[in-house]
Amino acid sequence: MIEKDIGFILKRFNYGETSVIAIIYSKRFGKIKGIFKGFYTRKKEFSTTLDIFSLNEFVFYPKESEIWLVSEAELIDGFSRLGKDLEMAKAAGIVFNMLDKAMELWDQNQYIFDLALRSITLIEKGKTKALFLFLIKFLTLAGIKPELNHCIICQSLISGPLFFSTSRGGLLCRGCCGKDQSYKPVSREASKTFSYIQNNSLAAAGRVALSPRCQEEILNIIGKFLEYHFNISLTGQTRGGLKAAALA
Ligand SMILES: [Zn+2]
Repeated sequence: MIEKDIGFILKRFNYGETSVIAIIYSKRFGKIKGIFKGFYTRKKEFSTTLDIFSLNEFVFYPKESEIWLVSEAELIDGFSRLGKDLEMAKAAGIVFNMLDKAMELWDQNQYIFDLALRSITLIEKGKTKALFLFLIKFLTLAGIKPELNHCIICQSLISGPLFFSTSRGGLLCRGCCGKDQSYKPVSREASKTFSYIQNNSLAAAGRVALSPRCQEEILNIIGKFLEYHFNISLTGQTRGGLKAAALA
């Protein structure tokens, strides 16, 4: 059956003389792999350049095999400013990298699509802090959110000092630290702020005032969590840029 959907181009490469294969993150079908046969010759069907970061509307044929045939593609928004600013490009790159690395093929999640669209729109306006919020909300919506309400081993509410375990992805109480090798102390402020952003809307989360120290701590947690579980690194430069943007 023929379907129509909108989606972002995460990756693309030429295939043969005239065709293109692209990884798309679509609204209704999740991540899909599409082949655009005759992309460079059929200008009527393909009125887009399929640039990375661009949002397009596609007509395609879903099937059992991994690669789906895309018969038409039309540009909706090229988000072209993202490619002209290094910090914006890096922030957008991390958003798209997350969609590519953390989402399985055909794993549909419209909330994640909407979050990505809103985040990319904000990043293109120069609000690179949106990446910070995106990362926390993404982990929550993808069902892999760090546990920040109680000890991830013994489940108890923690009244004393807090520790965060990267490998287990959650807080540890003092008593359980001995059972884990990858824990680091974390302040109650950072833990509370992280948890607030997890549990509230993007608009509400955007209004949270963050102290530089708190922000640094949360970025550290997310950075290590992403590296450990997804092999995605937030480079020092990107994190520096985020800090500067968030403090502006
Ligand atoms: Zn415990």
